[in-house]
Amino acid sequence: MDTPESHIARACLDAYAALPKGGGKPQKRSNGRNEWTILAGCVLETHPSKFTVIALGTGVKCTPYERISPHGDVLNDCHAEIICRRGARVWLLDRLLAEISSDDIIIDDIPRIFHIANGSHAPVQYSLQQHVHLHLYISTLPCGEASSIALYARHTLEDGHKSLYPHPAHVPRLIRGRIRPDIETSECILRTKPGRRDAPPSISMSCSDKILVWNAIGIQGAFLSSWLTSIFLTSVVISMPQETHMGIHQKEYESKCVWALNYRGSSLHNHKLKVSFVSICFPDSRESVELRTHQEYGVAQADENWSKVEPEPCAASILWVPGYKMESLLGGVKLGASTKRKNGGPLPASSWSMICKRAWFLKLIRSQKVLNEPYYSLSYYESKHPLHASGRQHYIKAYQSEKSQLRGNTDSKTRISLFLEQIHKDPEHESMASPSASDAPLAAWLVTPRKWTDFIVEG
Ligand SMILES: [Zn+2]
Repeated sequence: MDTPESHIARACLDAYAALPKGGGKPQKRSNGRNEWTILAGCVLETHPSKFTVIALGTGVKCTPYERISPHGDVLNDCHAEIICRRGARVWLLDRLLAEISSDDIIIDDIPRIFHIANGSHAPVQYSLQQHVHLHLYISTLPCGEASSIALYARHTLEDGHKSLYPHPAHVPRLIRGRIRPDIETSECILRTKPGRRDAPPSISMSCSDKILVWNAIGIQGAFLSSWLTSIFLTSVVISMPQETHMGIHQKEYESKCVWALNYRGSSLHNHKLKVSFVSICFPDSRESVELRTHQEYGVAQADENWSKVEPEPCAASILWVPGYKMESLLGGVKLGASTKRKNGGPLPASSWSMICKRAWFLKLIRSQKVLNEPYYSLSYYESKHPLHASGRQHYIKAYQSEKSQLRGNTDSKTRISLFLEQIHKDPEHESMASPSASDAPLAAWLVTPRKWTDFIVEG
């Protein structure tokens, strides 16, 4: 059926199909294993039924904490949704600059999307026009709380019986990855990104958690806040074909998603995000590739030989933003690019993705120069956390203050050390309570410490 949701999903799947094969797209490995991935797309709606894909991302990996670069030149979180949101920000900034420097009513076939938000008060801030909407398409449920019932159902199917876990003595505030998907609570649980239990842990928060935050303070982030008022997603469209329901009614998945991405704790005053499911399949999804593998090798998932042909997640990611060449990424840098550091310094610029912190910061500095705006020679961290509230810094400060109302202001280093210590002591550790005394709704959030974001770039 032709609904706006199916248009959004189709637009993303068509844009993905049009991108070159190979590179970061899933492939068949030399040992015959097929690969799968997750796709996310950001879609701009300018008129009813006029949808433009402004960013695509794929990927399922993230960098362990111990390998985070202090130069901002490696993408830590390579999940599709996160790559896509960062790509969308690049498109939005380019678009803003194009609209500021032109009087045309239509630019690149799209009518102007921004208008001045704050009248005569300087400096000028822009907003999305009221009739313009942004949608996020995801080829499966986002990791974290939104997918916990699906994960639990999968465990149960694989075990052949309902998985039994002892009831936790207290509801944890923060859980590592996929552990304890069974916990049903009205309280807000945050999760780090899933990964193999024997792999070094990451401190990246799950996509469900990040979408929840975008839904509270916008997708634009601190830097773009200096020019743009908060930009919210209008809807999230998720591919959920009947075959992936695992005996659970779609309504249950929907209500869990709405709760996980919108509310999760009464003190969150969120913009209401619409969640829609479509039955359209992403051809490189885990389920589609499993089905193809079954047909190709004649081995069913229940067979003991399945483990020999079972598809593997694709380690690479792709990023595509209209007007730019598609990027293939591996380990957070361009596929095949140098990962050698001279004297511990940053990687060569040819290795960076255009959405890594370093390249993004550089783009912002260059944009300030294009707009003849004052530029301060500060580190990435200092620019994101200005001490003064003059000029545009006022807007960044306001954004940060909203963010700290959500996460509280507790010491991130202590919180991370406790988290890692607990995992080190007991890798199977079920959960942990937040060591934070703050009553902020997302106080258990693991914030990247300043030492990883204090780099300077030469504009
Ligand atoms: Zn994710």
